[in-house]
Amino acid sequence: MSGINVPPTWTAKTAAALQQAEQAVAAGMKPNFPDYWREKELRDLLLNIVDYKCWYCEALITRDDPKVDHFRPKSRVDGDSSEYGYWWLAYDAMNYRIACKHCNSGGARINGQSGGRGKGARFPVLGSFRARRPADDYRLEEPVFLDPANVLDASLIGFDANGHARRSARASYSARESEFGVCRADETIRILVLNSDKLTECRRAVMDDVSDYEGWVKRLEAAPESLRGMVLDFQRKIDAKTSITSEFSSAALAASQMSRIMLAGPPSVVESDRISLDAVAPGDGDLAPTQGNIVDLVDLLPFLDLNDLKAGIRLIGGQGGKSIQAKLFQDGRIEFLSRRWGTPTTAARAATGQDDINGWHYWRIEFDGMTMSLEDLKNRLES
Ligand SMILES: [Zn+2]
Repeated sequence: MSGINVPPTWTAKTAAALQQAEQAVAAGMKPNFPDYWREKELRDLLLNIVDYKCWYCEALITRDDPKVDHFRPKSRVDGDSSEYGYWWLAYDAMNYRIACKHCNSGGARINGQSGGRGKGARFPVLGSFRARRPADDYRLEEPVFLDPANVLDASLIGFDANGHARRSARASYSARESEFGVCRADETIRILVLNSDKLTECRRAVMDDVSDYEGWVKRLEAAPESLRGMVLDFQRKIDAKTSITSEFSSAALAASQMSRIMLAGPPSVVESDRISLDAVAPGDGDLAPTQGNIVDLVDLLPFLDLNDLKAGIRLIGGQGGKSIQAKLFQDGRIEFLSRRWGTPTTAARAATGQDDINGWHYWRIEFDGMTMSLEDLKNRLES
């Protein structure tokens, strides 16, 4: 992102628009923002970075107009007390991300049902600090959304062999995630519906292709000299799929890495059906449960019956008379509507469509013949 050279004509024009926005806010009025970010001279600079590809979901944007998304919403922020949003960043190119229609404003489906409204004006932060005026340093905020323009954030997303996005098993929770019981990757996946039907299907197809190519590269290692040229052909195909401008290149890269690990020798971790990419990824050793973890259920798994977990332990979620069922499995993930979530809170938010539910209070589980909240179970097991 640092390499964007915004044209001086555009800068001059937006400076004037920003001044008007500032005056409107000072007068207590909502600013009007001319949508200069949609202009070709600016948008093309952003499109040049990874081509016509959504920075959030990595799908190619082949028919719809690519949207220039304001990472920090310019007009208002859902659930925030200020009515103005990050108005002073409306024309800051560092605040722009290329997004597809689904990530920007919803429409993606999970199990045939609407997955929600996409990013829109949502910009949750961990903790109480939010920048509300230019003098507030927004870099001190701790956004929940993973920023696709931030390499460290992008590395927090992993993929399983079914093409589902999930928190990378190699990533440990930050201190703030632990404090608030929220997994940033899970929340990003939920809000942007990164595991929608179509997306996972397409992502898995790319991953299957890459795994096949890796298999051929390995097989051809022992082939006669005359066939060795084919190795290069398959390597080129892998390079093309994992190139940053290719659709779902992060998933392709993950598939390539997993295949190489698998092909190097029998994995030590074998799951019954398909093997999770992250389950065999290097660095899993640092996934040891941390004491007092309130983000996921990993700490509690040793106290639960393994056979029950294999079959899926029933969780009942409920508020206001409506109850929802989900299942907890041995990987510590909670399945609801054929999608697994790594954390109780995101599973509860996915089940209810509400952004502020605490899953530890929401889900109830049967233990020792009694029904209790996950929070109560945790307190009981840890005391
Ligand atoms: Zn997208």
